[in-house]
Amino acid sequence: MSKIKGLVCKECKKTYPAEAVHVCEFCFGPLEVAYNYDQIHTKISKEKILNGPLSLWRYEDLLPIESTPTVGLHTGFTPMVHAKNLGPKLGLDYLYIKNDSVNPPTLSFKDRVVAVALTRAKELGFDTVACASTGNLANSVSANAAEANFKCFVFIPSDLESGKILGNLVYNPRVVAVEGNYDDVNRLCSEIAGEYPWAFVNINLRPYYSEGSKTLAYETAEALNWRAPDHVVVPIASGSLLTKIYKGFHEFERLGLISDLTTQIHGAQALGCSPVATAFKKKSDFIQPVKPDTIAKSLAIGNPADGFYAIKIAQETDGIIESVTDEEIIGGIKLLAENEGIFTETAGGVTVAVLKKLATQGVLKKGASVVAYITGNGLKTQEAIAPAVGAPSLIQPNLASFQQTLKKERQ
Ligand SMILES: *Cc1c(COP(=O)(O)O)cnc(C)c1O
Repeated sequence: MSKIKGLVCKECKKTYPAEAVHVCEFCFGPLEVAYNYDQIHTKISKEKILNGPLSLWRYEDLLPIESTPTVGLHTGFTPMVHAKNLGPKLGLDYLYIKNDSVNPPTLSFKDRVVAVALTRAKELGFDTVACASTGNLANSVSANAAEANFKCFVFIPSDLESGKILGNLVYNPRVVAVEGNYDDVNRLCSEIAGEYPWAFVNINLRPYYSEGSKTLAYETAEALNWRAPDHVVVPIASGSLLTKIYKGFHEFERLGLISDLTTQIHGAQALGCSPVATAFKKKSDFIQPVKPDTIAKSLAIGNPADGFYAIKIAQETDGIIESVTDEEIIGGIKLLAENEGIFTETAGGVTVAVLKKLATQGVLKKGASVVAYITGNGLKTQEAIAPAVGAPSLIQPNLASFQQTLKKERQ
């Protein structure tokens, strides 16, 4: 018997075989992977995980593949850093940074979801993979497809940062830049997915893809000695990551790997694209789509597929969904870099700025354990931060010139 029971509609609970489908034919609800937890329970243990590979595949028992992992064998198991400088600055004794800005191979958390989606794509017999991306997903699909010998198409908004565009082209997939925003790209890709027999990782393979995000919760609990933290702060684009961090902690509790789960799940958005934060503040279930206008392009989804579920989870766990201005995002990037030596992209700036806001508001207390998810690397979004970092001191190649500069800087 397989650990995968099949797919199940999140809304009407109708079940489907575990194929490349993602929407319920009856109610149009999203499909999710259903597992045989009783079977998983007999297989999984702390000891088995501890002896597993130093990658996200140490949690293979809880991931939706049937054979053995073939993609992303070095992905995950990223550093969990006790923020010994930033924590005290924000009045927090137990602040941790989960640092996916160094996640292999393409330096964002998206390598987790792609490892799972492409392993599953291979199992389902696809030879071509594709995605609709705000940037990081395209980078990860391009790199992993090259390594795993898939044909590859990535679709991106044409106004992405140059680092993210180059970070596709170098792997030589077919890069299609669409003159529109992410929501336009996504709509187009849904149509293309209906016409071509390709594995669109975040469309027809979305039920498998999204499960990769759970590993951030598993790694967090394992690093905290099999405990979930009191608070987590999670960036929101489609809202999938936030919902899967919640699911990951709950699965660990259900399987007896952690107990007393009381984690408050907070969400972070950029003010220039904050449909989920806006609905949360209005205590509304309805997410009014927006046209994104923010430097945080990796989070710029105006019509977020899982926004509704993200709000439910924040409400259920006593979490808060906050938004921050582009200026605060730049401040967040610098705060993390200057205090912890971690250079994150604009999405990480959003997370740190919201973290700071929640600490200032007293939502996060001094003795509480807090984990902030840093999901991408700053070298990919250099144009966003360049105007805010100053310039080097230019000198002649002699001691006198150096000493003159030192003197000037001391004045
Ligand atoms: C995609 C992405 C997210 C959030 O993704 P969801 O769509 O909410 O799952 C967060 N940070 C970065 C850097 C991303 O690329």
